[in-house]
Amino acid sequence: MAEKVVIIGSGPAGWTAAIYAARANLSPLVFEGAVNATNATQGTLPLGQLNLTTEVENYPGTPSGDTRAYLASALKGDRIPYWVSANKSQPSHGVNGPELMELMRQQAVNFNTRIITDDIVKVDFKTHPFKLVSLEGKTVEALAVIVATGARANYLGLPSEERFKNNGVSACAVCDGALPRFRNKPLVVVGGGDSAVEEATYLTKFASTVHLVVRRNVLRASKIMQDRALTNPKITMKWNRVLDEVLGADEAGVTGARLKSTVDGATEQFDVGGVFLAIGHTPNTDFMGGQLKLDDKGYVLWTKPQRSNTSVEGVFAAGDVADSYYRQAVTAAGTGCMAALDAERWLAEKGHH
Ligand code: NAP
Repeated sequence: MAEKVVIIGSGPAGWTAAIYAARANLSPLVFEGAVNATNATQGTLPLGQLNLTTEVENYPGTPSGDTRAYLASALKGDRIPYWVSANKSQPSHGVNGPELMELMRQQAVNFNTRIITDDIVKVDFKTHPFKLVSLEGKTVEALAVIVATGARANYLGLPSEERFKNNGVSACAVCDGALPRFRNKPLVVVGGGDSAVEEATYLTKFASTVHLVVRRNVLRASKIMQDRALTNPKITMKWNRVLDEVLGADEAGVTGARLKSTVDGATEQFDVGGVFLAIGHTPNTDFMGGQLKLDDKGYVLWTKPQRSNTSVEGVFAAGDVADSYYRQAVTAAGTGCMAALDAERWLAEKGHH
């Protein structure tokens, strides 16, 4: 029998959609993503991008405090975060991203959301019920689908960057920054947005210096994040420069970086122990094989103003996969709510519910 609603993705949009759909008796099924090496490398593991971050300071309702006891009581034993059981220090301004995601997941589970830990790799939106095929080969039929697959970090596309991936090149400081190879070494972060500043600031905990390579002479990051970068004595600004080449050797991995001026093309080279990319994201839409209309940046197009509808009736989109503009945890959660309500109303209209 066809599922009423299948939700693809497990970030704030996916779990919020699940909570709303479950409470509307739609018995949602969530494909939360597969735990495998490919997803680990490209940053598409379950629980989304917040699971790859440290503190989240701008998710309302999560001020810092002694949240250990709360987390231990709210989450199931096998999902209690390591830092809670190890009695590690509390976040100082907000909530830890991975803990926030576990709380969202648990809230969906509490309302009987069913979860499959696998990717959807193929869809057929031309027939109804829609057909979804998972990486492990499971086929599921669905009356309505909510696409909440988020976005993944971009790389520059330099061959040298590819060569040293996982050997000194990373797009996730929080995942990799604490590795011994980066300790007390100068590091490079490329990018000028909030992510770049966040990554650079985080890396100052381990690095001797962090060179922040910005292709213009201004940061795109928000004012508060700009101030953090500009006042941190361990961050050196490399304005008007791009990463020209990652330098290194097969065994040693990254040993240096060559930068190029965007003003006069001059190059400079210096020793670094690692290179971190923070140059934006690409929405995870490949698995849909072009069956949904995308906007000019490749994000799923919302086809009705103030609604989560897509170009296929019965398929809704939420979160970063459809939002190149705000891309915040709270907006993703908000659009996840919208998608569940839109799906519920659409199913009722069609007499499916
Ligand atoms: P972003 O805002 O799109 O910034 C990407 C940065 O990378 C820009 O500075 C861009 O330069 C630069 N860039 C892009 N392509 C490049 C290339 N080929 N070479 C060199 N530089 C390149 O992306 P983001 O920083 O990942 O942030 C995404 C969203 O998440 C934003 O809405 C942000 O506010 C949010 N976010 C918020 C927080 C927070 O509040 N704590 C933390 C992380 C992310 P230009 O400026 O020249 O285009």
